[in-house]
Amino acid sequence: MKKFIFILGCVTQLNAKTCEFCIPEIIKNQKVFESQYFNVLLDYEPRVPGHLLVIPKRHIFKAHELSQGEWSELGDIIPKITNVCSEFLGTSDYIILEKNGFNAFQQVPHVHFHFFPVHSEAWSDIFDIVPDPLCQEDLERQVVLFRGYFN
Ligand SMILES: [Zn+2]
Repeated sequence: MKKFIFILGCVTQLNAKTCEFCIPEIIKNQKVFESQYFNVLLDYEPRVPGHLLVIPKRHIFKAHELSQGEWSELGDIIPKITNVCSEFLGTSDYIILEKNGFNAFQQVPHVHFHFFPVHSEAWSDIFDIVPDPLCQEDLERQVVLFRGYFN
C-alpha cells in the first residue's frame, strides 16, 4: 500500500510513459543485484520468501523485444540467482514466470521475470494467495542480506 501511494505520488510528477520498473527510487530501494542490462529486485509483495524480479534496464514491453545480448546476459543471471538462493535460502528449486501482454495477465508493461525460490510449497500456496507487502524494515533488511550473497 505504501509503495502504491508512493508510485501515485511519482506518476504525477513524471511523464505518462514512466512505469513502476523505471522509477529510480523503487529500483534503488529494492535492488539486490545489477548487471550491464538488468536489475534484480526483491519483490515487495513476496509470494514466497526471496521472490525476485529480473528486469531489463531498457523499458520494453515483451520478452521477444529483448536483444540477443540481453538474452545472453540473462543466461548468466539465472544461474547466479540460483546459486544465491541455494546458499541463502537453502533451495535450488525455483519457478520462473514471465507474462507477455495484458491478455496474458501482464500487469506492468515492462518485461519482468518472476523468480520464485521453492521449498515445499504447494502451487496454491504461491499462486492462489493475496501476498502481504513487506514492511519497510523487512524490505531493507532482506535487500541488504541478499546483496551480501550476490557480492
Ligand atoms: Zn519501464
